[in-house]
Amino acid sequence: MLRPREAVRTLPSYHPPLAGREGLRLDFNENTVGCSPRVLERLRQLGAEDLARYPEREPVEAIVADFLEIGPAELLLTNGVDEAIHLLCQTYLEAGEEALIVVPTYSMYRIYMMAAGAEVISVAAGGDFRFPYEELRNRITQRTRLIAIANPNNPTGTVAPQEELLTLARSAPAAAVLVDEAYFEFCGQTLLGKFRELPNLFVARTFSKAYGMAGLRVGVLLGDAGQMRAVRRVSSPYNVNAVALACLPAALADQGYVEQYVSDVLQERTRLERALEAGGIPFWPSSANFVLARIGSTKTAAAFVEQMRRRGILVRDRSSDHGCEGCVRITLGPRDHADRLLAALQETIEELDVAQGASRP
Ligand code: PMP
Repeated sequence: MLRPREAVRTLPSYHPPLAGREGLRLDFNENTVGCSPRVLERLRQLGAEDLARYPEREPVEAIVADFLEIGPAELLLTNGVDEAIHLLCQTYLEAGEEALIVVPTYSMYRIYMMAAGAEVISVAAGGDFRFPYEELRNRITQRTRLIAIANPNNPTGTVAPQEELLTLARSAPAAAVLVDEAYFEFCGQTLLGKFRELPNLFVARTFSKAYGMAGLRVGVLLGDAGQMRAVRRVSSPYNVNAVALACLPAALADQGYVEQYVSDVLQERTRLERALEAGGIPFWPSSANFVLARIGSTKTAAAFVEQMRRRGILVRDRSSDHGCEGCVRITLGPRDHADRLLAALQETIEELDVAQGASRP
């Protein structure tokens, strides 16, 4: 009988609640208004011939490299950051070796690491989801081959100090260290370029968040040119589709659009944080386009998500994440979206009386 590999049989399945997302979608950290109009214009110009041809990644990689002011050999366009994580696992993880993550964090690290047959070691974040630098360092062994860190982290919105990330990479020269900067635009901190001193360091960025192109599936992995050669060997030459490649230069050319979106979101994030404070709901100050708030018990959080959904606002229950019992993650958009969010939030707080008994860990 045909049987999947042992590592696959024991793999937990990750089923994000994507079905029937009717309403204002503040549940997946997407851009709530969508991409630049210049991207749509480019999209409309595409014809049958563009779709008939295999996609050509390299000319677009040269444009992205120029934009990021690095060499084209130091970068690979990927099918979202998800593929970048997958490729790193395929390139560096041997079955039975160790991979380190901090929990709570983005779910796909664990999935791809386990699928490669690695032993995943989860290090719990500190109080208030502080980056557990010492604890991580203590867990590095001869068998550590990959360390994945989201910075800012999802679902907490917290950031790790740059110096700690660099020291971590220095202390594990035989491990690939991925710093996933999916929310870079909302935070501004980056380790881009540091892989010139630290060839085991990789940085990932995405066009799914600030750029509003999650549906196109395009991200970028950056690292030492020699290491990237190895990663490229594992990748399909056609991993990023022709539509995404055609649109990407238009997205990059409209930086004004992204800057305006980010500035709007940061303003509304402060407004949401103030409203949570006023409602007596604990939250963690965020450096990304979302805020994690502790609504109360796991049951109250579920009721909160449901009440918000009835008011036309989708938010994400994170209760099952490590240390996030009773927590909900709320994505921000610009003013009119935040207005709708805050109105629904106010009504839901009153209805559920959630301010009482909520506490930070
Ligand atoms: N990394 C992090 C930290 C994320 O939060 C997400 C999306 N939720 C991703 C990667 C996936 O990004 P992409 O759409 O580029 O695959």
